[in-house]
Amino acid sequence: MLTQIATSEIVKQQRRFFESGKTNDVAFRIETLKRLKQAITDHETAIAEALQADLNKPKFEAIASEIAFCREEIDYALKHIKSWTKPKKVSTPVNLFPAKSQVIAEPLGVVLIVAPWNFPFQLAMVPLIGAIAAGNCAIIKPSEVASHTSNLIADLISKTFNPGIVKVVEGGKETTQQLLAEKFDHIFFTGGTQVGKIIMKAAAENLTPVTLELGGKSPCIVDSNIHIEHAARRITWGKFINAGQTCVAPDYLLVHSSIKEQLLAAMKQCLQEFYGENPANSPDYARIINDNHYNRLSQLLEAGEIVVGGETDAAQRYIAPTIIDQVDWDDAVMQEEIFGPILPVLEYEELEEAIASVNACPKPLALYFFSKDRATQKQVLQETSSGGTGINDTIMQLMSPELPFGGVGNSGIGAYHGKASFDTFSHQRSILTQSFLLDIKLRYPPYEGKLKFLNWLFK
Ligand code: NAD
Repeated sequence: MLTQIATSEIVKQQRRFFESGKTNDVAFRIETLKRLKQAITDHETAIAEALQADLNKPKFEAIASEIAFCREEIDYALKHIKSWTKPKKVSTPVNLFPAKSQVIAEPLGVVLIVAPWNFPFQLAMVPLIGAIAAGNCAIIKPSEVASHTSNLIADLISKTFNPGIVKVVEGGKETTQQLLAEKFDHIFFTGGTQVGKIIMKAAAENLTPVTLELGGKSPCIVDSNIHIEHAARRITWGKFINAGQTCVAPDYLLVHSSIKEQLLAAMKQCLQEFYGENPANSPDYARIINDNHYNRLSQLLEAGEIVVGGETDAAQRYIAPTIIDQVDWDDAVMQEEIFGPILPVLEYEELEEAIASVNACPKPLALYFFSKDRATQKQVLQETSSGGTGINDTIMQLMSPELPFGGVGNSGIGAYHGKASFDTFSHQRSILTQSFLLDIKLRYPPYEGKLKFLNWLFK
């Protein structure tokens, strides 16, 4: 672990670089983004291997959800950066005539990015892309829990960038706390709600703005009016990709009682299609990140009746894709975010019941609703709140750079991806430029005799 002095020195070095004004230059940002893209391409095999070592992440998932995802974000930023950085002219009220108004997106300065372990590459790199596009210098603290990916990120960044622009500081919570003692211009944190509170408290000491990308229990409500086969496939995939260790995975199923048996049978079928007779032998099924999470998840298997799965292997940190029926809201599996391959199933008769159950919990990061009926879709949107929503699909809402990704309430503060990333790491500076041509005296004292005109102006 670095000493506090060494940590301070890294921040100072970045501040000096920022103050040199180099990152203000859009051409410099474009060059930096291109270098990052090239480095990702050059390290593609090493990234996939690190993800395999940490999570047994299949290469297909490593490329689709981490490596290619980052490259797409870079391409999107490169395509739009010139228009994002252009000053935006806005209209000026007549009483300010002949002034002109504009808004410019200004870089914030030196930012801190703290990442979690579940998509350990992507969740460190995508915020970095936004930070660079917006003209900031950044320090990244990857998750120590995904240690192979953390080492890989440190190596990739140190080989690619001057530490004054981007620097990786590896370590656990003590390292984060050391970093938090420094003054940053923004802190971008992805992780659990409890740690999010620690980050926000520390940021408050320096009045540092935060983006908190947190988690929670994301419900998946399934109406009776659906395409069973498509719904089953999309829910099964969304739940068990990365062995359920996905912040927007459907945490639990709330299914209409009339369709429950059919849906569960179809999901069982999907599991067999995806991972074969025994998912432990599938090259496409990930493992639990560490023993702590393995032990935590194993205990959650005790609720209800297992429909499929339930098998475990401590040596491999393997937990089979598991669906549990007959679960109650009081069961341990319903008390916390599962963050693993266990899907509890609850049923409802009336949609209002399902909505009331969801609304009794903190606002989730994602809410999924499956129904062909437009009026019912509208009702769910109107009567619930969530960071993002997938209607008749899971997870895919975060694949569009046009859709800001973030939570609400306990699931987070702020959003990113695409333009939202650029906005997150920018300050919108408002500028009014007055002319010397006129100087209307209405606003200046003495005010005697001017009130009538003022009333007329603002009527
Ligand atoms: P975590 O909160 O335990 O750790 C996240 C980061 O914070 C790590 O870098 C870790 O080193 C650091 N950290 C941990 N404890 C700390 C402390 N006491 N003080 C300072 N820093 C500390 O989260 P995790 O276990 O890595 O990830 C799982 C959680 O993240 C889940 O709740 C999941 O839903 C959430 N998550 C959210 C998103 C999102 O985009 N909203 C994405 C992935 C994960």
